[in-house]
Amino acid sequence: MTWHATIITLFPELFPGSLGASLAGKGLHEKIWQLNVVNLRDYATDKHRTVDDTPYGGGAGMVLKPDITAAALRHADQTFGPHGRRIYLSPRGKPLNQPMVEELAKQPVLLLCGRYEGVDERVIEAAGLEEVSLGDFVLSGGEVAALALIEATIRLLPGLLGNQETLAEESFSQGLLEYPHYTRPPVWEGREVPPVLLGGDHAAIAAWRQSAARKLTRERRPDLWQNYLQQQLATSTPNGENDEFAAKN
Ligand code: SAH
Repeated sequence: MTWHATIITLFPELFPGSLGASLAGKGLHEKIWQLNVVNLRDYATDKHRTVDDTPYGGGAGMVLKPDITAAALRHADQTFGPHGRRIYLSPRGKPLNQPMVEELAKQPVLLLCGRYEGVDERVIEAAGLEEVSLGDFVLSGGEVAALALIEATIRLLPGLLGNQETLAEESFSQGLLEYPHYTRPPVWEGREVPPVLLGGDHAAIAAWRQSAARKLTRERRPDLWQNYLQQQLATSTPNGENDEFAAKN
């Protein structure tokens, strides 16, 4: 079945946006993935098409109304569901990462994009939405977060990228950042490509890349590095195959 995302937004004109270009756009055209966009404002009930109201307890900003948000969610589920994952993009959510993206690629997803101060808390509870964040910063709306989540997901779908091997070696796929890349010329402005990459010794190249990936991860992302070491220890064999690695680190 074609993977699809259903988006609930006040700004439907932002979709497919960047996802209409390049390989994502081609995949959309070829129905490797599909997008359903629901305009939250269509569920407003007054003549001004109001979707928000002032927060109880006072303070700045506006809150998306629960009745209208719930009606849009119901419509989205009935028309385009079932959705395996139903997500409210929110800075309070679980930060998006590659293992989550891999799970998202297995089922259709519903994405609710907030605006202003966000949605009434009761909708999140009543609809059982899971909260997912793009990172520890605040956007003005969930749309860019939804675009990023979808982009990361669809590039894992079979048939979207030409070369599936690319995926296996990418950053995060083994818990490490990716090794550096080089292309012609072999010397550029006095800077040389690491000599091992110019030879045809595939084992040596693989070893160089693995060690470069480890070094980068250790230097830049101690959090990922600790997880990686734990993984390595957990999978090390009783005969001590990985002892050399454990001792060195
Ligand atoms: N008052 C909220 C921020 C609201 S920002 C707070 O302080 O937590 C408005 C909308 O932008 C949110 O409803 C959410 O849908 C979206 N948004 C903002 N930052 C985000 C992030 N880091 N990840 C995902 N969505 C985000």
